[in-house]
Amino acid sequence: MSYQQPSTSVPTFPAATVLGYPRIGPRRELKRAVESFWAGRATVPELGAVARELRTGTRTRLAGLGLGEDASIPSDFTFYDQVLSVAAHVGAIPDRFADLRGPGGALDLPGLFTVARGEGDRAPLEMTKWFDSNYHYLVPEIGPETEFRLVETPSVKAFAEGLSDGVVTRPVIVGPVTFLLLSKPSASAPEGFSPLSRLDDLLAAYTDWLRAFAEAGATWVQLDEPALVSDAWAETPAQVSDAVGRAYRALSVDLARPERPALFVAAPYATIGERFADLAQTGVEAIGVDLVRGQAPAIDGAVRAALAGRTIVAGVVDGHNVWRTDLDAAAAKLDRLREAVGPEVNVAVSTSTSLIHVPHTTADEPDLEERLRSWLAFADEKVGEVLALAAGPGAAPEAFTRSREVAADRAAAPGVVVPSVRDRTAALTDADFHRGDYDTRVAAQDAVLDLPPLPTTTIGSFPQTSELRVARASLRKGEITIDAYEEAMRAEIARVISLQEDLGLDVLVHGEPERNDMVQYFAENLDGFAVTQNGWVQSYGSRCTRPSILWGDVSRPAPITVGWSTYAASRTDRPVKGMLTGPVTILAWSFVRDDQPLADTANQVALALRDEIADLETAGIPVVQVDEPALRELLPLRRADQQAYLDWSVASFRLATAGAADATQIHTHLCYSEFGEVIGAIDGLDADVTSIEAARSKMEILPDISGSGFARGIGPGVYDIHSPRVPSTAEITDLLTAALASVGERKLWVNPDCGLKTRGYPETVSSLEHLVAATRTVRERL
Ligand code: GLN
Ligand code: ZN
Repeated sequence: MSYQQPSTSVPTFPAATVLGYPRIGPRRELKRAVESFWAGRATVPELGAVARELRTGTRTRLAGLGLGEDASIPSDFTFYDQVLSVAAHVGAIPDRFADLRGPGGALDLPGLFTVARGEGDRAPLEMTKWFDSNYHYLVPEIGPETEFRLVETPSVKAFAEGLSDGVVTRPVIVGPVTFLLLSKPSASAPEGFSPLSRLDDLLAAYTDWLRAFAEAGATWVQLDEPALVSDAWAETPAQVSDAVGRAYRALSVDLARPERPALFVAAPYATIGERFADLAQTGVEAIGVDLVRGQAPAIDGAVRAALAGRTIVAGVVDGHNVWRTDLDAAAAKLDRLREAVGPEVNVAVSTSTSLIHVPHTTADEPDLEERLRSWLAFADEKVGEVLALAAGPGAAPEAFTRSREVAADRAAAPGVVVPSVRDRTAALTDADFHRGDYDTRVAAQDAVLDLPPLPTTTIGSFPQTSELRVARASLRKGEITIDAYEEAMRAEIARVISLQEDLGLDVLVHGEPERNDMVQYFAENLDGFAVTQNGWVQSYGSRCTRPSILWGDVSRPAPITVGWSTYAASRTDRPVKGMLTGPVTILAWSFVRDDQPLADTANQVALALRDEIADLETAGIPVVQVDEPALRELLPLRRADQQAYLDWSVASFRLATAGAADATQIHTHLCYSEFGEVIGAIDGLDADVTSIEAARSKMEILPDISGSGFARGIGPGVYDIHSPRVPSTAEITDLLTAALASVGERKLWVNPDCGLKTRGYPETVSSLEHLVAATRTVRERL
């Protein structure tokens, strides 16, 4: 069932574009404005004015960089999250927020923030990772009761705003199939309900939305459908394929031009595979594919014929990482694609994903070493790359020459390949990845630690007070000496140790006061990394992270944590747990070199951590926790790729920890609770104790874990640290009782869900008091 192009002429797709642009502002202006609004220091109009200025700034900047053609500048602004924004447009807001909706069903800005952040007993939408990135979206709740209707159109207003400033932007919205696949069934949905079953109703709202864009004068609209690159859904590929066909026939054929803008469907983050042919059989005018993480789609005669007169938007510039593009290699990909599709099909150049995953510009990094900076391309520099690729080597020879020079310089620069590091990884044998047998370890650890049943501990950090932040800032500005800074940190450690003794916790931590961030802290102390000054990227809502740049071979010039941990241990007779960030998490939350396999980079980091563990051991630290909260985050989106990932990621954790003596207890911490597909990998880590998030899901995960035969220590978090709410002793007692039933007293540990750094002291102390009291109650019943 092939679709014939209608005679109404389709506007030309711009030759070069980017799939999206950072929304938070070069100096995190949106974060500041939103947070002062939340704090009651700014009004809605004031916040609106900052947002307006940011949108104008983005359009002006992108036009200045050369994205001048109509529809080449994306319009993708949102105050909080692009998935929440779709939910708000189509009225898909859970019933518990019904009172926030205005007469027409729309949420105002304070209402939108309430849905995102919760209020009192009213839980916010759940938040989870956006594909394999460190961006988090809000999970819509969809049920049979959800009424889809276009109730508000800030996206259309933003387009009109651009137009009134003289720029024809290209609105970017999340597409209907991805929206529903990312949703979860609402509280009132029957067992087994699939949000995707509501597709047809949702399409009616999208139809109105596209009409509104057309009426406002939009020529192209971009619908992001990253869900198409994944096959890890509850729905079968056939069901997803059917949904794609249905959705895009409804939006492109049933809704004919010029009643709608031309449609560009983008499928970033991995290989589009067979969903490409599905889209080609609809009437969408352009299809975007990721040629950095993904492979080019298969183009046979039927697809070629179906595509005649349309555009493939080739994502050949990495939107997810910060290295300058090898323009020759990217141009070769474009040539191959042009050859495969033939002259009838237009090929445009783009980034592989939205640029929300990278900082604004390398020009804003005065402290970055010049040579390293010359290898990098942040958002603005990537715009230059797509333009150069669209022009081609003939028209933009300097850009291509520069790209070659950069590649040669990077390959030859000192530190990129360090022979001693390479020799060490080359000499690894299987034995380096294995510890002694678990029963022997347990006996050796019991002899050293002498812990009660259901030992209590925390995940590592204690509240980061403003005094700690001020001390760090003063050190940076040279206002205090390093000695004074370290003295302040030791005072904090001493305080946190005596607090934990008073609370009656069993395994103590030093509290991580010296860490600005669990990855950056290690990056600052390892060779092969650089850190940025303004390289912020949005993590969720107003929260940003500043990933470090892993550019060279990694090694550890000196011990990193040993001084802090031994100082903590000197203040108490109880066991102190050393605290490290694992290799996979260090990779996941950094921008990682793209010139060697991730597995090799992970092993280099692992060896540095292995040396740190050896030094902690020598210093008498009996327990070491190696955090891997990001283990699941890098899980490939296509099932076929997952095992290879789990093999190298688990191996790198084992390499980091397998040098530990039997008597040293290795803990790990994973901060999520969807374990289904990774339970085998968690077991494979071979940690003596694993703490996980479990409070929000009321310990639902436990039967899965014990059913899987997981045989080592486990600490299912007993309270949610993401909220200031203090859990009662009774509530924790109930959770522990449930946990005990499936885990058993020999294996159960008691701890919060995650680190306490974002919490305040009052709620932390009360919560931990209740945690210890509940543990005592349950122990007495044993
Ligand atoms: N040890 C870290 C902390 O407590 C773990 C944080 C995390 O899991 N994200 O802060
Ligand atoms: Zn955590």
